[in-house]
Amino acid sequence: MYARYLYHETGLRKGDIVKKLDEFMQSCYPKYNPTDWNSRIEKYMLKAEKFPLCECNGIWINEKELKTIEEIDNKVLERLAFTLLCLAKFRNFRNPNNNNWVSYSNGEIYNLACINTTAFDKDLKYNQLEELKLIEYAKKINNLNIQVLFIDNESKNKLFISDFRKLGYEWRLYKGEKYVRCANCGILTKNTNGKRRYCKDCANVNKKKMDRIRMQNLRKSRIC
Ligand SMILES: [Zn+2]
Repeated sequence: MYARYLYHETGLRKGDIVKKLDEFMQSCYPKYNPTDWNSRIEKYMLKAEKFPLCECNGIWINEKELKTIEEIDNKVLERLAFTLLCLAKFRNFRNPNNNNWVSYSNGEIYNLACINTTAFDKDLKYNQLEELKLIEYAKKINNLNIQVLFIDNESKNKLFISDFRKLGYEWRLYKGEKYVRCANCGILTKNTNGKRRYCKDCANVNKKKMDRIRMQNLRKSRIC
């Protein structure tokens, strides 16, 4: 992302961009070794050239796509299919020649889908979606490329997804389960009792803040 920003927004020359990326990595990554990263930085440069920065407010999921997912009739597979659909649509937006492909690591996909399972089970679930003719996949060493086969851009827009952090929960919310967007950071979080306002992280930060204020007030009252 930073490489794309430098390439398209700053007007710097390639050599200067590589220098900036090098400085950036040195400041953020304590174990950074320029020799090891040389070829990767070159690769980011080439990619940056191809893909200008784009702003994506979100993507629309259509009526027919939602129906296809509902017909799977298996909660976990539905979440996985929905996540893959959102990712493929996002990549299509970023690159019109993407042709419904998704290329992320297994871990990333399952994290976004909010599914906790073993490596063996992960592969099994892809196979099940493949048997249903919903995806097709080409396995490469260390990464998994999946093509989503049920994208339908013709039917009516029905669900707008603007937050990609918890796609599995977005699906659950759509299916009527109890979830709420955190009042602070906006992330979807379970709301079983209907009273929750904050996600765990923000609730912890709020609690620390409140504790600090309470301590300060206590100290003040002692001084008075
Ligand atoms: Zn939050």
